[in-house]
Amino acid sequence: MSDFEGLTALVTGGASGIGRAAADLLAERGARVAVLDLDPSSVGAPLTGYRADVTDDTSVRAAVAAAVDGLGGHGVLDVLVNNAGIGAQGTVEANSDDEWHRVFDVNVLGMVRTARACLPHLRASAHAAIVNTCSVAATAGLPQRALYSATKGAVYSLTLAMAADHVHEGIRVNCVNPGTVDTPWVGRLLDAADDPAAERAALEARQPTGRLVSAAEVAGAIAYLASPLSGATTGTALAVDGGMQGL
Ligand code: NAD
Repeated sequence: MSDFEGLTALVTGGASGIGRAAADLLAERGARVAVLDLDPSSVGAPLTGYRADVTDDTSVRAAVAAAVDGLGGHGVLDVLVNNAGIGAQGTVEANSDDEWHRVFDVNVLGMVRTARACLPHLRASAHAAIVNTCSVAATAGLPQRALYSATKGAVYSLTLAMAADHVHEGIRVNCVNPGTVDTPWVGRLLDAADDPAAERAALEARQPTGRLVSAAEVAGAIAYLASPLSGATTGTALAVDGGMQGL
């Protein structure tokens, strides 16, 4: 299947986990794909990696310009997967103001900066789509995730607002809301737990399917929302959470 033949895509946080799976799938389906990441050293052909820190506007603008140029689409970008993000644990008492600013800077402003840099290029596309990686945490009321959930609530609202703002320019904006996904991030979380096996079992039990979501399953949802197959869909959140919120 080659639903992305001739299209160009840019994926932030694409060196690991969900972003990497999405970048690989879009490339497999025919897109030319650039990855922006803090550390793109693991990214190789057919993907092209660019170093960027989404908390630094200058870095984002330079990397987007280089990536769009490198994609060879004459300034046209068809797909932006706004995915770079970091976690935070605890109640509102657990994190300092500095930590709140830092996580919002990556998870929310990082998507704003990247969207701002990409919009002129997306406007030139006949199939423009933005897919933001949100989370079940945006709406599920998860314990011990106050700061992280607040950032993803903002990503959800941002998705709806951007969908309304850009629909008349032919740019669709949607998000995916994963449950707990088996990525290096969750691996690090489990490694830090007192009892990693018990923690993993607890995370699995939270999802009615009884297992973690795979990065490939989230990538599939991202690819659908990025593809012309979902051409009439904008301003939606697609749950990829093993039934966590729906059952
Ligand atoms: P990951 O840690 O495996 O990958 C994240 C990538 O983002 C890394 O390559 C990292 O270098 C990059 N990154 C981090 N900060 C950056 C910055 N400032 N600038 C540029 N790149 C940066 O994590 P993942 O689990 O694949 O998570 C990806 C996204 O999915 C995040 O937005 C996360 O909130 C979301 N998400 C993850 C889960 C989960 O359970 N893993 C669930 C729901 C949502």
